[in-house]
Amino acid sequence: MIRLSVVIPCYNEAENVTELHRQLSETLEDLKLTAELVFVDDGSGDATLDRLRALAGEDKRVQVLSLSRNFGHQAALSAGLDHACGQAVVVMDADLQHPPELIKTMVEQWERGFDLVYAYREGVRPRLGYRVLNRLMRPPIPAESADFRLMDRKVVDAFRQMPERTRFIRGMVSWLGFRQTGVGYHDRARHAGQRAYTVRQTARMALHALLSFSVIPLRLASLLGLVTLLAGLFYAGYILYARLAGWPIERGWTGLMLTVLILGGVQLVSLGIIAEYIGRILEEVKHRPLYVVRERIGGPGQS
Ligand code: UDP
Ligand code: MG
Repeated sequence: MIRLSVVIPCYNEAENVTELHRQLSETLEDLKLTAELVFVDDGSGDATLDRLRALAGEDKRVQVLSLSRNFGHQAALSAGLDHACGQAVVVMDADLQHPPELIKTMVEQWERGFDLVYAYREGVRPRLGYRVLNRLMRPPIPAESADFRLMDRKVVDAFRQMPERTRFIRGMVSWLGFRQTGVGYHDRARHAGQRAYTVRQTARMALHALLSFSVIPLRLASLLGLVTLLAGLFYAGYILYARLAGWPIERGWTGLMLTVLILGGVQLVSLGIIAEYIGRILEEVKHRPLYVVRERIGGPGQS
């Protein structure tokens, strides 16, 4: 019976995994729990998999899932959650930005009866983008929570019932509810290597989060249409009044051009917003697996 699983997605973290394993081992020793460590190699191009293989060779608690290519952080996390069998599961990054010692506090809160213990960064003001995004989530998520949290088995099982492809796990977990509490920590610099998320990936993730967690953009499209309609009606009223009052009415093509351009713009923007949602619907109905496992090393039923 495994009490605690730790899930760690790794993408090009060769310089970090051994040190992380050392620090995790120390923490687990203090905790005196039966534990497993599920490392997910997300198609790394460096020696990450070799290092993980070596760790699995010397430590029976280590399980390694090697994905067939780079599927991205959120998919790698999902893979780890699918394969973890502990009564509680901690997810954390591989780059030592998430201090392993904090797991002790998380476990304490869990044993006190909380189903979900999320870690949030203390002493930083989250970037504006995050603040806006997190407000938009229903329910809103704590401003600077990281992808570092402990989930009870109940939460993990509920999470695994959520079939969506476009994932923003922080939002999904918050949606689940349960008895949640937060623990603060101070973020550290990456131990080694570089941040894997590119600006483009981050922007795409923000768009995912916005579009898959709210219909606010659709409402905006309606609102835009409404405003245009009102402007048109107002103008019509003005023309009518001017006719009756005998004011001279300008009959240039400038007004016509402006009307056509504004109307066309409003329509195209609204169409674009709808198209974004349709594209996402296509992604969902294709129903592809979220990730593909190429190899599994260690873990239950394996040598
Ligand atoms: N990661 C991953 N697949 C990716 C990108 C990142 O599994 O395609 C992992 C990475 O190895 C790390 C975690 O996700 O453990 C967070 O990545 P990173 O440190 O680059 O993001 P940041 O901490 O800057 O948000
Ligand atoms: Mg990081």
